[in-house]
Amino acid sequence: MLEVSDVVALMRYASPSKTDAPALLKALARRVPTMTGSRLTLPEIGNEFLKLYWNQTVVYHLRQAAAVSKEPDVLRAMRAAAERHDVREFDRLPLAERETLARKMSKTLASDVLDRFHASKPAGMTPLFTWSKGDASIEISDASRAFFTANASALEVIANYRWAGYLEKINLLAPGIIEKVQRDGSRRGSLTKLHAMLTETDEPRCFYCERNFDARSVVDHVVPWNYLLTDEYWDLVLACVPCQTAKADRLPDARFITKLVATNARRTRGILEKHRISPIAKMDRVTQLFAAAVANEWPGPWAPKPART
Ligand SMILES: [Zn+2]
Repeated sequence: MLEVSDVVALMRYASPSKTDAPALLKALARRVPTMTGSRLTLPEIGNEFLKLYWNQTVVYHLRQAAAVSKEPDVLRAMRAAAERHDVREFDRLPLAERETLARKMSKTLASDVLDRFHASKPAGMTPLFTWSKGDASIEISDASRAFFTANASALEVIANYRWAGYLEKINLLAPGIIEKVQRDGSRRGSLTKLHAMLTETDEPRCFYCERNFDARSVVDHVVPWNYLLTDEYWDLVLACVPCQTAKADRLPDARFITKLVATNARRTRGILEKHRISPIAKMDRVTQLFAAAVANEWPGPWAPKPART
């Protein structure tokens, strides 16, 4: 008989220096309830793994080791593919790249993950799956499948908790780790109201390239949204579409932080009170968060190409 408390114990005693146990638990919690038949292939699990690690590594730039350079090969290959194709959404990566990465993930599962998963299992616990070295798939019993189906969301919470606990230790300066671990991809609210406020307070020029807007302007997060997970007025500027698109989720060159601090100082108190924003200036916070993101190896620095004369 499988019990949620056994899975909690299994996770608690899993290796504290690796994330593959929570990753596998979460991948299974997502795949098992909808699987057909009793076997899940390694590429199927590998693909699920890939999506989970992609979310944390490429979208939120959470390190899975003490430094990016110490991460497993497959994670570094993911980062490289994201940079090469300039994409942050997994589904926008070319199919051939996704397949190459899924194959690498399957190999990692076979060599390093599957046979270790139950190593910390409490005495008497029925394994969640069976697998022998060389098998191309894992076997899920009817009882295990019923267990996953009944407890999928609880098992995912347990996996997230364990995974976030590990990431907190090695990403000391990253805000919102639990939310980053449990989110799928990056979803944001509307910036319409903030755009209107910025149009009132700021110069009608792109914050980065300083060209006048000949078409529309857009709101840009100077310290990237994917780092902060929040829309703070003191972090926002008006930018032209080409700059905002090119900067994407990168940190800007440090001179733009200095410029943002000056901009925040100029933004009048009146408008902030009118819109019920506490008189910022949180200027220090911008500088501190920028320094923290740099220390976390967040991608950057970005600056617009010099204007052609
Ligand atoms: Zn621009």
